[in-house]
Amino acid sequence: MTAADLVVVADALHGTTGEALAVADGRIVAIGDRRDTSGWGGRGTRTVHLPGVVLPGLVDAHAHPVLGARVSRGLDLQGVRTLGELRTILTRACREAAPGAWVLGWGLSHDVWEGAPITAASLGSAVDGALVLLRMFDAHSALASSAALARAGVDGPRTFPSGAGVAVDAEGTPTGVLQEHEAIDLVERLVPVEALADVAERLAGHLERMAAAGLTGAHVMDFEGDPAALYAAVEEADRMPLRLRIHPWVDPSTTEQDWDALIGATGSGGRLWRLHGVKFFLDGTIDNGTAWLTHADCHGQSVRSTWPSPAHYAAAIARFAAAGVPTATHAIGDAAVRHAAASIAAARAAHPGSLHRIEHLELTGDDIVDAVAGSGAIASMQPTHCTRFIRADGRDNWSARVGRARAGQSWRTRALADRGVMLALGSDWPIAPFDPREIIAEAQTRRHGDGEPVGAAEALSAAQALAGYTTGAAAAAGHAADEGRLAVGMRADLTVLAADPTQCAPEDVPALSVNATVVDGRVRHLRG
Ligand SMILES: [Zn+2]
Repeated sequence: MTAADLVVVADALHGTTGEALAVADGRIVAIGDRRDTSGWGGRGTRTVHLPGVVLPGLVDAHAHPVLGARVSRGLDLQGVRTLGELRTILTRACREAAPGAWVLGWGLSHDVWEGAPITAASLGSAVDGALVLLRMFDAHSALASSAALARAGVDGPRTFPSGAGVAVDAEGTPTGVLQEHEAIDLVERLVPVEALADVAERLAGHLERMAAAGLTGAHVMDFEGDPAALYAAVEEADRMPLRLRIHPWVDPSTTEQDWDALIGATGSGGRLWRLHGVKFFLDGTIDNGTAWLTHADCHGQSVRSTWPSPAHYAAAIARFAAAGVPTATHAIGDAAVRHAAASIAAARAAHPGSLHRIEHLELTGDDIVDAVAGSGAIASMQPTHCTRFIRADGRDNWSARVGRARAGQSWRTRALADRGVMLALGSDWPIAPFDPREIIAEAQTRRHGDGEPVGAAEALSAAQALAGYTTGAAAAAGHAADEGRLAVGMRADLTVLAADPTQCAPEDVPALSVNATVVDGRVRHLRG
């Protein structure tokens, strides 16, 4: 054996009988007990002794780090619960802003309006008269003040082929709600662009906090706004502690030439950040009435696909499958999941072994769970979207829209796992917090804090929840053979926690300290 670059000695190694491992060239080259380590080192070997348990590196299967860095600009509104609170914060910010300056905010919940219509006017005239743009928590909608809309020349309804649009009241006057990114962009493009160094600094900070929470990688579900220079700047500064696998969007207006360009770009990037697959949106969100449901929601909304021609989507899936490029499809409503599964099943019949995943799967009846299982798709799900945004009593925007009759069809993690579907888990950060320990816990409890469990029958076991961040994430990336487990030859991406999360009560997992992370054989986070 060549001398190891790194030797990690801990109390235990998850899934093995060992307590130490050696790493060379980014791979695990030996596993054994403490006594074996004397034969592993050489000149230049770094040995770290850590309390706790070494796990395969935890990977968030769905995140948007650059979007998070860009939108976490301005006021953090994630904790705001009432309209009164929001008015107070914004009124002060508008008063303190320089004349003509923008007031920006992010992370705002629809539930602040408690079911009343969401309008910029409800923020009060002082706010509505200033240049204000607030990102809703789901990143699929925003609220712009009247002054901001006027500046953008938006004075009536606008719609886009994708279903994006400017919401209007009965008189045809914009309410301030901008749905989906083309509509948001009508106003956002007027906001002064930040210097690259400022966004890069925020991105590096977010990635470092992700590492400190135990993450060694993330599947990045966008490549919007030409972020290559940002990623490069962060890596150049040696501040990229996560392996990032990036999936640019394929929208309905793209042509076969665009698809071929994306196929050609796959694999490009830097050392730890690479274009890996592609991402489709078959629908929007239930919260905004833009999902694709088999039966409309209580407002008669969420009835169609983002792809005007779902057959065109199926053709795109087949094209990427033929080229060996992994696909990911955002499909939240049951009709969207059904169409994704059917398209993937057809692509896999023609191209066996092609890799496809479905993102979110928020609403699925038994027939659709079976269709997903039969398709060979991997299910990429976000348990905290259920535990944080849905209430067991149904008194939230999402539940009101789908109605009580369909409440039992939400976030069916257990049903999917029991039917043999490979599950990858993640946060969708910045939509929800990224801490994997909290998500692994809430996947088991189906509740946040003292809240009532939401759909307790869909709770995962501890082993299933951890697998979602390890073997499931590896499978979703097409790396089941060399990532997600601790064994000789596997990639040395490691997370060291104070205890094994499969041996703790789920309630205790969020408090487990992250003693270290290793990415590509290099210690990236060490508990200070
Ligand atoms: Zn997302």
